[in-house]
Amino acid sequence: MTPSGERRINARGVDCDNMSLEAGSRPAVLAAAEVSTNRLTVLAERIDAAGTDTIDVRAPAADTVIESVPACTEGDVDRAVERARDAQSSWADIPADERAAVLDRFGDLVLDHAEELLDLLQLETGKSRRHAIEEVLDVPLTASYYADRGPKALSDQNRRGAFLPATTARVTYEPVGVVGAISPWNYPLTLSVTDVLPALVAGNAVVLKPDEKTPFTALALADLLERAGLPEDVFQIVTGEGATVGPALIDRVDYVSFTGSTETGRAVAERAGRNLIDCSLELGGKNPLLVLEDADLEEAARGAVQACFTNAGQLCLSAERLYVDESVYAAFLDAFVGATRRLSMGTGFDYEADVGSLIDGDQLERVEDHVEDARERGATVVTGGRPRPDIGPFCYEPTVLTDLPPDSTAACEETFGPVVAVEPVPDVGTAIERANDSDYGLNASVWTGDRERGVAVAREIDCGTVCVNDAYTSGWASIDAPMGGFGDSGLGRRHGPEGIERYLESRTIATSRIGPLDVPPRVPTAWYARAMIGLSRLQRRLPSVSSLVDRVR
Ligand code: NAD
Repeated sequence: MTPSGERRINARGVDCDNMSLEAGSRPAVLAAAEVSTNRLTVLAERIDAAGTDTIDVRAPAADTVIESVPACTEGDVDRAVERARDAQSSWADIPADERAAVLDRFGDLVLDHAEELLDLLQLETGKSRRHAIEEVLDVPLTASYYADRGPKALSDQNRRGAFLPATTARVTYEPVGVVGAISPWNYPLTLSVTDVLPALVAGNAVVLKPDEKTPFTALALADLLERAGLPEDVFQIVTGEGATVGPALIDRVDYVSFTGSTETGRAVAERAGRNLIDCSLELGGKNPLLVLEDADLEEAARGAVQACFTNAGQLCLSAERLYVDESVYAAFLDAFVGATRRLSMGTGFDYEADVGSLIDGDQLERVEDHVEDARERGATVVTGGRPRPDIGPFCYEPTVLTDLPPDSTAACEETFGPVVAVEPVPDVGTAIERANDSDYGLNASVWTGDRERGVAVAREIDCGTVCVNDAYTSGWASIDAPMGGFGDSGLGRRHGPEGIERYLESRTIATSRIGPLDVPPRVPTAWYARAMIGLSRLQRRLPSVSSLVDRVR
């Protein structure tokens, strides 16, 4: 819908803004998305499931079933992991450069098929196309980075030996085996690819469990990887209920990369711990955004709109708490609320709408509950605060709250929707204190006219990423830098060298040039002990000699 409230009819004669009028009509929403039933059926047939139980997949734009996928059982997961395990060793034997070339081709194919991926993404998630494109553009970036980085990460490394130069130490790396990746519905393409590609280039096989609401994007991903030359069975997908498929997967793989809620993350970590396998957990957030008194307020307002309402706030990096220096509070709020009111809403499959639908009725109910609770406790709803069934069954207006009591649900819990609270603070110290007053620590954003000051403030914030004068994109897209959370926001890091090292097993190979490092024959142990103490002293006092040897080595 345009800001003036007019409906838009697309080139195919479909009402872009009101799929809900066609509720229950699968052809209408599929026609609008330009996705054929046949294409979805072919994608669903990629899943090898023994049983006949299925899960319906719905299009949030029209709250209608678009197709179903198998509800995999523990037995199905078992077979998928076995197939992956059988395929893994020959994949790992392929030279790393050849594995990297598959990633490169995959990156190109994603760009070639961008329109289809955008249609599928919008169909399954209900997000606006301008937010879906962020996902598609992210994939080639990740593919190029890991195609370049992968082979290097697997190279042997020389390390300092026990007694220089009598001994040497070399570290070799190999894939952990089969990686289980569990992904959420909000960014089904990006958040799968970002964990799957580094695992594959390292020589692992991967079994991906997409969220039950968004399996088709993952299936399209499998299709493109196959076309890029990935050998059969190296990448498998298992669809089905999280509570069945998730634990079955964790019990069979050698590493788990999980993205989702903190609650489920804890269950995943417990199970991985019991199995003595490692895991990375990318979890929830209650992300702060700080506006300092020297910020460019128009820019900060624009950034805050992006931070709060991208993907209708269903982004783990979204800001839900804004702390604004009180000297600029009124001017900032004015600019921010103005920019929020200008956002257009819609469920169309083009680039017109700024904000799309929430994923489903549960998510809508959560958002409504948070806003109602805030209202009842005395918060002011400055703009928004209403569901918009006239636009889509699960649409909710971008909402700005002020005077939010600290004990309200929206202040304490992640809303994961288009709702933000703005609060004035007396100084930057208080802003930092308020930002750190959370169990979460995923992403923060700081707005200031002085970038160096922004960096100094960033150092004080307990979050895995802090973006200065940007909402979240510069942090996420710095693919060479680690990404993850402090506290309840997760464990481990994706992206950067850390993103691939987690999928490797290391082996230290130490060699001695002087035989066994033990008391030599015919030397009294007391003499040996004295000599070793002297040697240890020397080694400790001459760090520069060790560094020199390191350099020569
Ligand atoms: P969720 O935890 O309910 O589901 C995530 C995935 O886990 C799904 O595939 C689901 O099927 C699966 N799952 C469910 N039960 C499971 C179990 N017992 N064992 C194993 N897997 C199981 O999360 P959600 O509601 O789909 O996603 C929203 C949450 O994810 C929000 O909290 C959001 O902040 C977080 N998130 C975090 C990041 C990040 O990178 N930090 C990114 C996106 C979303």
